[in-house]
Amino acid sequence: MNFIGADSTFEDARTVIFGAPYDSTTSFRPGTRFGPAAMRSESFGIETYSMYQDKDLADVLVHDAGDLELPFGAPDRALEMIEEESGRILDAGKIPFLLGGEHLVTLGSVRAAFKRHPDLCIVHFDAHADLREDYLGVKLSHACVMRRCHDLVGDGRIWQFGIRSGTREERQFMKDGHVATQLFSSTALPDAIEAIGPGTPVYLTVDLDVIDPSEFPGTGTQEAGGLPFRRLLDDLTAILRRLNVVALDNVELSPPLDPTGRSTALACKLLREELLALNLKGTC
Ligand code: MN
Ligand code: MN
Repeated sequence: MNFIGADSTFEDARTVIFGAPYDSTTSFRPGTRFGPAAMRSESFGIETYSMYQDKDLADVLVHDAGDLELPFGAPDRALEMIEEESGRILDAGKIPFLLGGEHLVTLGSVRAAFKRHPDLCIVHFDAHADLREDYLGVKLSHACVMRRCHDLVGDGRIWQFGIRSGTREERQFMKDGHVATQLFSSTALPDAIEAIGPGTPVYLTVDLDVIDPSEFPGTGTQEAGGLPFRRLLDDLTAILRRLNVVALDNVELSPPLDPTGRSTALACKLLREELLALNLKGTC
């Protein structure tokens, strides 16, 4: 079963979805390994047509490559496999769209994008800074993923929005200017879009726990005071239309933690809108 409307062949597609159902390093409540499969089956509950963008998934060329079979408990190998898949899609001239899984999976896809675009910038939406040097002595953890990305891309290349949780050390890392972080909201996004500019290759990573838990309870580490769905939708639409996004992901949906299904339904709707906005690149 593919995500609704994602029925192009690999050859024809401009965007390729693939799942990384991995949650081995999750610190609190696991379950994100079920995210990609739940999004596919629940996607048939939404329309392919978007009233927000007056566009239909039937009009865009998206291929769903399915899920990787990742070895649990072996994050190095899992990240290698994600990097290979993302690299295969990039080398075919297409945009890889990774579905997590926990946030660590992002590192594999960022590695692939950075190898091909050494001037890569990263735009990061999350409730959590994810800038720890290590978590309980482990460097490959979802709590450290943006720090590992910073190891690659360096200072001044990462923009963070919606962050409202982290350690004093992580806050100091921001204050020292290694990354550009807006706490609690995303009102500064237009300035970031201006600063990054339309030509720079961008990796967009969306930890869905950036959304307020009242709208999105299906995630392992809920943080009150998040962005409303509509705000995130408008932000992502602006980024995808105006910046040169070469690869992206949506991570941290954990369907077992929300028996009402509203979190999965939200994730499906957001993915539809992102796929449509990617296709409308340069139209605003
Ligand atoms: Mn995260
Ligand atoms: Mn998070």
